[in-house]
Amino acid sequence: MKRFGVSLPRDVADKVDRISQEMGVTRSEVVATALQEYLEARRSHAEPGHQCLGVVMALTDAFSEIGDVIEENKAHIVAYTHLHVEGRCLTIAVVKGAADQIEKLTLEVAKRSKISRYVPLL
Ligand SMILES: [Zn+2]
Ligand SMILES: [Zn+2]
Repeated sequence: MKRFGVSLPRDVADKVDRISQEMGVTRSEVVATALQEYLEARRSHAEPGHQCLGVVMALTDAFSEIGDVIEENKAHIVAYTHLHVEGRCLTIAVVKGAADQIEKLTLEVAKRSKISRYVPLL
């Protein structure tokens, strides 16, 4: 075990507290479990020469909020679709490319969306 302090946004810290109470485990255990999942999800991206293949989902008020990101990243977008859910725009894109390019793409999408997710397929 190694100890180190981390600063968390208040709402995140409150959620960690709630989960630790509900599950009867320590805060450290909640954080360690979450971090392990994060590290596992990133693991394959760190392998040399890794090509990402995954699905990006983004919920926005209008397609124009992420339209330029889609346009700028055309080379990495295999296909995408756009539909309307609860009055909002849901864009689903299959993306493929070098890990750093896909990471940049997903960060740009995340910045402009209400909610976004990247689901790796490889
Ligand atoms: Zn990847
Ligand atoms: Zn739309």
